Amino acid sequence: MLGFRVLAMNGFISEREVALNALLADYAAGHLNPALHSLVAAHLEMKPDNRSFVSSLEAVHARALEDVAPIEVSNRQAILDRIFAAGDHQVPVALRNRSAGLPQALFGYVGRDLEDIKWRSVLPGLKEFRISEKGSDTEASLLWIRSGSRMPAHTHDGQEVTLVLKGAFSDTMGHYGRGDISIADGEIDHRPRADDSGDCICFAVTEAPVRLTGPIGRFLQRFTGH
Ligand code: ZN
Repeated sequence: MLGFRVLAMNGFISEREVALNALLADYAAGHLNPALHSLVAAHLEMKPDNRSFVSSLEAVHARALEDVAPIEVSNRQAILDRIFAAGDHQVPVALRNRSAGLPQALFGYVGRDLEDIKWRSVLPGLKEFRISEKGSDTEASLLWIRSGSRMPAHTHDGQEVTLVLKGAFSDTMGHYGRGDISIADGEIDHRPRADDSGDCICFAVTEAPVRLTGPIGRFLQRFTGH
């Protein structure tokens, strides 16, 4: 993380790339929870460009593990436990012939494909499907934003990582198309807007419920209890 920050300060890469690289590094190290792990795996399916970067990080981690293997047996067991725990999440659904829907990694995590999602209307132009994760503070949701609609203005108590599955959206940080990852935190108050060219479907993972900030949001928040 520190190394990436130094590169950003020197102007070699943008803050947006810094955050993404840190996420990819945590993925390579096996540090992500199952929801974020699936999100990054789906991103790599959709955007193979980052695969070589992740492979090189994984190689570094493999070498680091070899170097310290004799005294890190317990750690290694913890890593294996995490891998198996994550695996449980991804396997159970039998694969079938699927039309272009969710990326494979996300299909495994969600347990159904886009055509089988039971959307819940949140606001006109915004629907949600929540995926609960037992024993975790993490919230994972599929979001559907109608073409040209905006999400309510909100900020975050923790990190919010969003992968675009279909369509595209824009916010104060930039424009995100299919396969792109947006990373927002408490410093960002935004109102993502789907492009006019089509509905936008995203997979969002948040560490804590988002905090609505606009007038409509504050009104709604009284009822949802967040
Ligand atoms: Zn957000």
